[in-house]
Amino acid sequence: MIPAPPEIVCCPKCGQGLLRHSLLSGNTFGATFYSNGRMEAPMLPEFPAFSRCPNCGAFFWVSDLERGGGGRRSYPDIKELTVAETAAFLESGLVQGRDQEIFVRIKLWHAFGDGVYDDHSEEQELWEGNLRRLLELRPEEELMIAEIHRQLGQFDEAMEILNAILADEEKKEIWSFASQMKAHCEKKDRKVFRFSRD
Ligand SMILES: [Zn+2]
Repeated sequence: MIPAPPEIVCCPKCGQGLLRHSLLSGNTFGATFYSNGRMEAPMLPEFPAFSRCPNCGAFFWVSDLERGGGGRRSYPDIKELTVAETAAFLESGLVQGRDQEIFVRIKLWHAFGDGVYDDHSEEQELWEGNLRRLLELRPEEELMIAEIHRQLGQFDEAMEILNAILADEEKKEIWSFASQMKAHCEKKDRKVFRFSRD
């Protein structure tokens, strides 16, 4: 993994200097994959694609930030948003079109961590509403659609997708993931799990 030198960029609203990190190169050696599509890769750390200014609270896409600042010794890093902040970012007017909405809603799903909610709380409303909206938007990956159904407790729908994957020779490379997910469906288990490599 080779990190790039951090760039000083500035908030589009108040001009606050921020540090934008990136990698020159990385790889997925030693990575762990979770059923919800999240990956933990020690050699490929992920930096936020969207965030907000710690000074004025303005939301932004990190790639839109212009270089600037200078003259000071240290600047705050661009932070990963919380669940509530990510939900607010969705309503900020900066998320446009299906692809961006899918991207941000997957981040929101992952921001919830490994939780599955059935306590009729506000969290459940947001978590479940987000997953239902993702299903409407139809992300490309079938495994992800099956996983959303599984987490919502819609095991028949999940099984139908998984069985179709497992019957399709052309999808052989995801058979191992699909059969592990199927085993969790058979146990009526809705929790996020870690894929084992075999
Ligand atoms: Zn600002």
